[in-house]
Amino acid sequence: MDLDAQKRIATLLHHRTKSVAPGEPLALEITSSATFHTPDVPGLSRIYGRTGMPTWEGLEAQLAILEDAPCVAFPSGMAAISAALFAGLQAGRKLVLPSDGYYVSRILGSDFLAPFGVDVVEIPTRDFETADFTGASVVLLETPSNPGLDVVDIAAIAARVHAAGGIVVVDNTTMTPLLQRPLDLGADVVVAADTKAPAGHSDVLFGHVASRNADFMARVLNWRRLSGAVPGAFEAWLVHRGIETLEVRLERMCGSAQVIAERLRAHPKVRNLRYPGLPDDPSYAVARRQMAGFGFLIGFELQDAFVAEEFLTRCPLIAQATSFGSTHTSGERRIRWGDKVHPGFIRLSVGLEPVEVLWAAMVEALG
Ligand SMILES: *Cc1c(COP(=O)(O)O)cnc(C)c1O
Repeated sequence: MDLDAQKRIATLLHHRTKSVAPGEPLALEITSSATFHTPDVPGLSRIYGRTGMPTWEGLEAQLAILEDAPCVAFPSGMAAISAALFAGLQAGRKLVLPSDGYYVSRILGSDFLAPFGVDVVEIPTRDFETADFTGASVVLLETPSNPGLDVVDIAAIAARVHAAGGIVVVDNTTMTPLLQRPLDLGADVVVAADTKAPAGHSDVLFGHVASRNADFMARVLNWRRLSGAVPGAFEAWLVHRGIETLEVRLERMCGSAQVIAERLRAHPKVRNLRYPGLPDDPSYAVARRQMAGFGFLIGFELQDAFVAEEFLTRCPLIAQATSFGSTHTSGERRIRWGDKVHPGFIRLSVGLEPVEVLWAAMVEALG
């Protein structure tokens, strides 16, 4: 991690310690109030719980340090993605989405945006670098793609989308702002599910939108106010708490993922393993340039659905769960959600377990 990132983390850990008044709590307070004292005086910033809440503001200040950009908090990753898409699109406009990206974003496009008159086009992530973006208003990009882990050049894509008059929204969930900085690479907007590594404990859903484009962020903020997609104070507090340890968790998770990926790939029962940190992986060259770490997700195939399920069931240190980025290692067969992958394809999210213990459990479960 470079010095700038290290400074951001240190600043983040102290973003309240120097600003609270004597006698006030250092920890972010949970303020749950539907309404605020509102005498008829001009300039009140807090009026009603749908327009602003102190606990969101504390979290948004922390997220803004992490992103180095203004952030708006949402009650889930999908609420954040919806906000960015509804803020950036209208009938007759074109949206380009990854056909191998997070499946819920694709369904939002086909079931809601398309019927409202948005021209929704899906292309595979690896084709983004050469795709024709003529007429595209919004290009949603996910790199590494989830679950295939293809990595593409954000700066090159942003330049081509901008030349065509569109904006680039990057779903940065798999990386977090500590491992990849799309805004610094030329993307216009970042959306993320803080449900995953940032909150990090499988106990809350959350999301945010980040952008340095003030007009766009004004629309995102207005979308939250009008759609009513507002986070709860307790959920915001949990995310704020989780983010304080994000860097140390990522260090363990990425380090272990590298070890597990190298060993798993050498295992005779494992096929087509993908991890951007392996020098002969197709994603490696761009990942090395563009990412500050290779992440904690590994994709691989076992012989078939039965063998893959056996492995997941038999391994005591793999939670059988969807989602990723938590303290515990988890894994699942992605075909069950309609991803276009082999029936024996497993997406593994490496957690905080000491790596030798985790590896020993995996080897035994592979049989
Ligand atoms: C989980 C996820 C989301 C959605 O987040 P929720 O908090 O579940 O709404 C969006 N994008 C990616 C890449 C994800 O993994």
